[in-house]
Amino acid sequence: MQYKRILLKLSGEALMGQQQYGIDPIRLQEYASEIKQIVEKGVQVAIVIGGGNIFRGVSGVSGGMDRVQGDHMGMLATVINGLALQSALENDGVQTRLQSAIKMDEVAEPFIRRRAVRHLEKGRVVIFGGGTGNPYFTTDSAAVLRAIEVEADVILKGTRVDGIYTSDPEKDVNATKFDFITFDDVLRKGLKVMDTTAFTLSQENELPIIVFDMNTKGNLLKVVSGENVGTKVNL
Ligand code: UDP
Repeated sequence: MQYKRILLKLSGEALMGQQQYGIDPIRLQEYASEIKQIVEKGVQVAIVIGGGNIFRGVSGVSGGMDRVQGDHMGMLATVINGLALQSALENDGVQTRLQSAIKMDEVAEPFIRRRAVRHLEKGRVVIFGGGTGNPYFTTDSAAVLRAIEVEADVILKGTRVDGIYTSDPEKDVNATKFDFITFDDVLRKGLKVMDTTAFTLSQENELPIIVFDMNTKGNLLKVVSGENVGTKVNL
C-alpha cells in the first residue's frame, strides 16, 4: 500500500444515494465494504463525514435562521451520519470509534488527538463527527485539520466525479481531467476542490489531496495502492 494512514472525507450528500434527503442504507453498506477492504490491507483509516444530506447552516439562514444556530444543527447532522457509518462498519466486522468535536459523552468519545492516534495504531477506524466544533467552518476544513493532527499521509476526498477537470464535466463535454495538479495551479485556474479555508490549510501543511470517485467499486483500494485513480493535488 502506498499510504499507511489516510483521512477519508465523505460528503453527507454522498450518503443520500438515489434519495433526496437522509441516509440510503444500501449506499452506506457499500461504503462500509469499500472501507473494510483497505482496513484489511493494514491501512489506518480516519474518516470525516459531512452533514449536507441532513442540514447545512447556510440553508437555515435563507429560511431566516441565525447562522450559528444553523451551523450547530449542521454539526449535529455530521454526528448522525457518523453514527450511521459506525453502525454499518461494525455490521461488517470493522472495529470503529466515533469521536465528536462537540461533547456528547453518551454518544461518542470526545475528540482527543492522542487517543485517536492510538485507535488508528490498533487498526480501528476513527470517525470524526461534529466537524471542527465551530460555526462558519465546513467539514472539508475539519477533514484537513484532523488529517494534520493525526499525521495522515493524504486526504482522500471521495466524490461522485472521478477527479478534477478543466471545467465542470457535468456541464462541459470538452472538460478534461487532470491526473496531477499543484495547489498553485488549482488556485490560479480557479478550480473548485474544497473551500478556500480548507484548501489553503492543506497547502500550508503540505498535505496532498486526492479527489476520486467513491461510487465506483474498488476505487478506494486502488487509490491507497497508489494506482493512478482520480486527481492528486500536490505541492
Ligand atoms: N459545520 C460547521 N462547522 C464545521 C463543520 C460543519 O458549522 O466545522 C456545519 C455547517 O453548517 C455545514 C454543516 O455543518 O453546512 C454540514 O457540513 P458540510 O456542509 O461541510 O457537509 P457536506 O457538504 O460535506 O455534506
